[in-house]
Amino acid sequence: MERSLVLVKPDAMRRGLAGVIISRLEQRGLKIVAMKMLRMDRALAERHYAVHRGKAFFDGLVEYITSGPIIAAVFEGERAIEAIRQTMGATDPLKAAPGSIRGDFGLNIQENLVHGSDSPESAEREISLFFSPQELVGWEK
Ligand code: UDP
Ligand code: MG
Repeated sequence: MERSLVLVKPDAMRRGLAGVIISRLEQRGLKIVAMKMLRMDRALAERHYAVHRGKAFFDGLVEYITSGPIIAAVFEGERAIEAIRQTMGATDPLKAAPGSIRGDFGLNIQENLVHGSDSPESAEREISLFFSPQELVGWEK
C-alpha cells in the first residue's frame, strides 16, 4: 500500500472541477484517507515546491498555487503514486494523454489542475506538510 498527496489546484477549484478530479481518483480504486480545503500561504508553497527553487517557473508557481483555495487530500492504494501520476497525465497538458485529467481539462503547463507526489519519499514529506498523523483516517475495522 502506498499513499500520495494530491492537491486540487486553484485553477481547478475556480473552474468547478474538484468533484470530477476527486471522482476520477476514487473510480480508479484509490481510497481517501484525509482531505481538507485551505489556501496555501507563501511559506507553505515554498516548502512544498522546495525542489523547484531557483528554476525559471518557481516564482510564478508560488503565485499561482497561493492564488486561491485548494483541496489537499491523501489517497491510498496499491502503487498509488504511479496510478495517480498516470491518472493526472504529463505535467504539460498538451503532452498529457487524452483520458488523463490534464489531457482532458488542461492547456497550460502552469495551470495544470492537480498535483500528485512523485515518489514515496516525496509523498511522506509532502503529506507531513499538510496533515498531522492523527488526520490520516484508517479504513480497517
Ligand atoms: N510548472 C510550470 N512550468 C514548467 C514546469 C512546471 O509552471 O515548466 C509548474 C506546474 O504547475 C507543475 C509544477 O510546476 O505541476 C511542478 O512541476 P513538476 O515538474 O514537479 O510537475 P508535476 O510533478 O506537477 O507533474
Ligand atoms: Mg512534481
